[in-house]
Amino acid sequence: MDTCPFCTTYKDLPSTPGGILFEDRLVYVHHYCRDEGPSYLGHLLLKTKRHVPGLADLTEAEGQAIGQSIARLSKALQACTGAEKIYAEAYYEVVPHLHLHLMARYPETPQAYWRWKIGEWPQAPQGGPEAIAALCEQIHAYLAQTVSGSVEPNVE
Ligand SMILES: [Zn+2]
Repeated sequence: MDTCPFCTTYKDLPSTPGGILFEDRLVYVHHYCRDEGPSYLGHLLLKTKRHVPGLADLTEAEGQAIGQSIARLSKALQACTGAEKIYAEAYYEVVPHLHLHLMARYPETPQAYWRWKIGEWPQAPQGGPEAIAALCEQIHAYLAQTVSGSVEPNVE
């Protein structure tokens, strides 16, 4: 789809702060970065590589890839930010290409900012490209320690 920004910007992502945190053949994850001003630290975007309009349009394989990515990146995000909880939100209203927001909820977050207001908390840890890149470096290191390529840890 030529007019979809998420279909056309994938190739530019390595130049965004922190680059691509994780990818396989179906999905990829990067840290959100606003065009101007500081961004909420600990806000990841998980996107499908294919133009998928919504959750009901996922293939089984894409659904599995999303689930695995959520598990891996949530663990990494929690470990690297000290978050007490990771939120996953998917609305795909502004850009109708499936993407999930993975948001770190910090322990000090007032309850008034829980759930969909999480990004509005004025005292939330925020940072520019350098802070985002530093956090992404930690996440990369965590993933490198816990995920060896695409090999699954031993499970029963
Ligand atoms: Zn698209």
